[in-house]
Amino acid sequence: MGWNRVIGQERVVDTLKRALASSRVAHAYLFHGPDGSGKRAAALAFAQALQCEHPEAAPCDACSSCRRAARLQHPDIQVLMPQPADVRPEEIRERLDRLAEDPYATVDFVRRSSLDDSGSTSNRVVQYSVGRIHDDLHRVMSFKPVEGRWKVAVVTDAELLRKEAANAFLKLLEEPTPRTVFVLTTSRADRLLPTIVSRCQRIRFERIDDASLEAALVERARIEPPIALTIARMADGSYARALDLAGSEELLASRMEVVDLLRAAYQVWSHADVAAETVERLSRRGREHQKFLLGLGLVWLRDLVLVRHLGDQAPIVNVDQRDELLKFSSRMTAARPERMVVLVEEAMDLVDRNMNARLLFTVLLQRLHDAMHGAESAALVPSLVEG
Ligand SMILES: [Zn+2]
Repeated sequence: MGWNRVIGQERVVDTLKRALASSRVAHAYLFHGPDGSGKRAAALAFAQALQCEHPEAAPCDACSSCRRAARLQHPDIQVLMPQPADVRPEEIRERLDRLAEDPYATVDFVRRSSLDDSGSTSNRVVQYSVGRIHDDLHRVMSFKPVEGRWKVAVVTDAELLRKEAANAFLKLLEEPTPRTVFVLTTSRADRLLPTIVSRCQRIRFERIDDASLEAALVERARIEPPIALTIARMADGSYARALDLAGSEELLASRMEVVDLLRAAYQVWSHADVAAETVERLSRRGREHQKFLLGLGLVWLRDLVLVRHLGDQAPIVNVDQRDELLKFSSRMTAARPERMVVLVEEAMDLVDRNMNARLLFTVLLQRLHDAMHGAESAALVPSLVEG
């Protein structure tokens, strides 16, 4: 798991590393901040570091403690999430295994009632029951560590400790057993009992910056850089959201929108009504979504350049649209895809500069049309400025 699994959040990681190095580890921490900012990932890395057999390098990621901590199978680390009353143990284990693979995966019962279908909802009440606080925390946390140096409990979505459960948990915090560490995570710190909050060292997580998100998408999720950047910009500082987008139907639907846009450009004069509709639809989108679509368009057009030069063996991004790209390329022999790339890049820049969207997309379709038919076309900027 290790610190390198935590995306961005350098300030937080430094604080936790300093606590480890100086052996001034608090009895309880509250990691709070927006969803998907990495609170749980940092909590798991911290738990691993506390148990590592090489404190000077913790977590070393190599010792037996580290390896079991990374698999979420260390006997002295409890990872709790709110759950329905009728949950099966193997259901929890499956979620923890997914979490061990990717600490940013959406595996909790609150946001995902079934692992098979991310969109499904359920009426099962998800919470921390008081029985669970007794069984999984009181009992476990009052024993000495089995083999590690600490007993660590990570309590995720801690705002779902309600009433009796919260009071039972408070007792644990009030009567600390030596060498126990609690890490609570929440995106709703305002919903926690103030008496719980006041006993924790608060660590604030900020939204993850776009550059870190982009790098993580490229390195971990193997997303191509132009798409990674557009996804990063849409994800609003949440890597969990970015992952959802990367694998979502929203992304697929958006790519179809891009193909529609190019079709509308191709027929801008012969089917003026379709072009006008496309412009209208694009104009109503938010700026981030417009940039996202143009970013996807850019990737598509770069693929077209590759297909044009390398044929059906071209190493393209949109592998599932290879036929579409080949068709486009063979039908439009006069087209100048390199020119189209430049036009879309210009358009992205103009969206950023708050250019009137209707005007921008109208001119963009016309210029793309010209480039598709091999005609010389003016740059977007001068014609828009003159217009
Ligand atoms: Zn280690």
